[in-house]
Amino acid sequence: MSKEAVVVGCGVIGLSSAIRLQEAGFGVTIISRDLPPNLTSAVAGAIWYGYGSHPRIRRWAEHSLETYLPMTQDEASGVLLRRVREVFVHPVAAPWFKNRLPFFERIPKHQLPKGFSDGFLMDVPIIETPTYLQCLVERFTSAGGHIEQRALTSLAELIGQHTLIVHCTGVGARTVAADSSVYPLRGQVIKIAASHIQQGYMDDDHFTYLFPRNDGVILGGISQPNNWSLDPDPAINIDILTRCAEIEPSVRSAPIIATLVGLRPGRHEVRLEVEQIDNTTIIHNYGHAGVGVTLSWGCARDVVELAQLIT
Ligand SMILES: Cc1cc2nc3c(=O)[nH]c(=O)nc-3n(C[C@H](O)[C@H](O)[C@H](O)COP(=O)(O)OP(=O)(O)OC[C@H]3O[C@@H](n4cnc5c(N)ncnc54)[C@H](O)[C@@H]3O)c2cc1C
Repeated sequence: MSKEAVVVGCGVIGLSSAIRLQEAGFGVTIISRDLPPNLTSAVAGAIWYGYGSHPRIRRWAEHSLETYLPMTQDEASGVLLRRVREVFVHPVAAPWFKNRLPFFERIPKHQLPKGFSDGFLMDVPIIETPTYLQCLVERFTSAGGHIEQRALTSLAELIGQHTLIVHCTGVGARTVAADSSVYPLRGQVIKIAASHIQQGYMDDDHFTYLFPRNDGVILGGISQPNNWSLDPDPAINIDILTRCAEIEPSVRSAPIIATLVGLRPGRHEVRLEVEQIDNTTIIHNYGHAGVGVTLSWGCARDVVELAQLIT
């Protein structure tokens, strides 16, 4: 008898989990209120970046990097390899992933912008999320996966009807799983037409970045805890453009394609664990904050390991 799973959520976390479960022999249905590109995952910039030193975070990021790098051979996948300049106000140690990237070097001090004392130049995956998510949807459905668009008020609606539920609702977990530790970290980015910008830029000290993609250059950023508004804020656009123009003055005159807003799923830590309710096993996979694209494939691998243990 074939094994069945229901994945709730169709963002980068739900889709990666669903695809890996399919590959492991599960028949998978996705239930989701929103579909790409109308969700947080499609707003993300999105750079793969190995933040943090916690072993499981690093393991998830590392596996995702190993998954993304071969995808960069085909830009139609939405996974692009871009040279990115990262700068720091204070000196930093070399990151753990420096030998995992195709190119990495420290920037000589005299080449750093004013006010910065360290920096790296590196080739790193940048994910053109609308294209990438569409590719994942096609990969999932062409392998026989079904997508059902509907909103749940609670996971309880599915208990008893399915043996395995993989729960990936991002910030929606606050209501769907009644997890009050989940909160929005509101983000806003500007997409501009500026194909002359080929090199990315990242300054985490001021949360400023430029990510060149084939569909435009993404300028950011901002992170506003507990702000649920999905309306673009014009004052934030001015702030982002001002910061990015200090790095690349031509962004000021570039046509704006879109202003995008998304709610990162904030939580004190990612929740990736099993919960058993009656005959239904739930694998929770949410709370990835600002690094869900970076962690997605590593988390999906753990979801499959847990699913295989209990089926
Ligand atoms: C501006 C911005 C920039 C970012 N940049 C990066 C980056 O550079 N690198 C990186 O790694 N990450 C980045 N992120 C973070 C990343 O986007 C998130 O961590 C990731 O998208 C979370 O994915 P998710 O699938 O959990 O959530 P979502 O994409 O929000 O998907 C959740 C899914 O659950 C569904 N759902 C929710 N509630 C319900 C319900 N009640 N019933 C049914 N379905 C429901 C939704 O419809 C949706 O399909 C960025 C985010 C933002 C906003």
